[in-house]
Amino acid sequence: MSFLSLGLSEAISSTVAELGYSAPTAIQTKAIPVILSGRDLIAAAQTGTGKTASFVLPLLEKLSQQHSAANHKLRGKRVRVLILTPTRELAKQVESSISKYSESLKITSMAMYGGIDAAPQKQALIWGIDILVATPGRLLDMAHQRALHFDELEALVLDEADRMLDMGFIEDINKIIERLPNHRQNLLFSATISADVRALAKRTINNAVEISIANERTSQPKIDQWLVTVDKSNKSALLSYLITEHKWSQALIFIETKHGAAKLVSQLEKRGIAAESIHGGRTQAIREQILAEFSSGKITMLVSTGIAARGIDIGNLARVVNYDLPAQADEYIHRIGRTGRAGASGEAISLVSKDNFRELCAIESKLGHVITRKAFEAFPVKKLVPVSILNYVPKHKRK
Ligand code: AMP
Repeated sequence: MSFLSLGLSEAISSTVAELGYSAPTAIQTKAIPVILSGRDLIAAAQTGTGKTASFVLPLLEKLSQQHSAANHKLRGKRVRVLILTPTRELAKQVESSISKYSESLKITSMAMYGGIDAAPQKQALIWGIDILVATPGRLLDMAHQRALHFDELEALVLDEADRMLDMGFIEDINKIIERLPNHRQNLLFSATISADVRALAKRTINNAVEISIANERTSQPKIDQWLVTVDKSNKSALLSYLITEHKWSQALIFIETKHGAAKLVSQLEKRGIAAESIHGGRTQAIREQILAEFSSGKITMLVSTGIAARGIDIGNLARVVNYDLPAQADEYIHRIGRTGRAGASGEAISLVSKDNFRELCAIESKLGHVITRKAFEAFPVKKLVPVSILNYVPKHKRK
């Protein structure tokens, strides 16, 4: 299968070939023809599967065809394609993919998010933008201020829809959708299609084609998942042991709270392991600097709260560690998707103490299998973690 045979032009196909994409991934093979045909789409696909290119490439194709066919001139303050993402990091990442993929085309794109001065963003909108990638809050602000109009919008993409709902963006999304023209193409991407995502899709999307590659691992090489049961008081010692004994070159370590993150960094440092942390309490500039240093390998151990890590795309991330298991099983799937991205293999390790048993049951039920357990002699466990019940239903979801 080639990008050309999916219906993409020579220009776009050769750009992706230059980026080293030798063949489309599973999601790309399924999504590109549907999007080119103009149909609505609901796609279950995790990060790491090549999902961004699966919607960006066909949208670029359609926009560039119109540009050359009709000499289409965009009016000021108008956008043709709107991509909504849950976080500024993801917005920037998606926009940077668009810039890469559209190198040979005359297509403009921009990322728009909160937390920074709105004036330059307003200025950039004055001449219109073909593809706008935005977080819901800032987008709505701009629309309220009449810095942006949607009457020329042709397509809406909801990227990581489950995450946007988890982060409480539903009202903003609904308000945005109310402002959009009725005739448009709708694309929804989500790691998991939960009942809430389905409800959102029902309101937004008509007659969509549904595709799922969530359980297909062909495009995503092996993620080696394992866990160690450990007494809570031994967690940081166990983590230090794993880092040192297994000579880990890099790890993204997830932890629940920002206080916990700071404490863990100092515990690691006491054992001679250099580490950094990112969490919602750090400024955007510092978070970006730390991420860049982690990406370049200058920082090797990065401790992060779940929220701060959203949208992180580090090519070839070797390993993620759940120092704390996430409260939601879907979040676990998201986290492990940060490693083993297209073209690389990765490892996902969880440190599980007895009080995490519920979360473990929910995660293993979601996966449909138990995670391999490894034990280390130096860390005998006093409070044993039982084997999970695989049809576990969280209390709030029981009928
Ligand atoms: P995503 O799932 O969109 O976060 O993409 C994950 C990674 O896969 C990104 O770093 C892309 O550059 C890369 N990628 C996307 N499509 C392909 C492809 N067809 N072949 C190889 N790598 C790809």
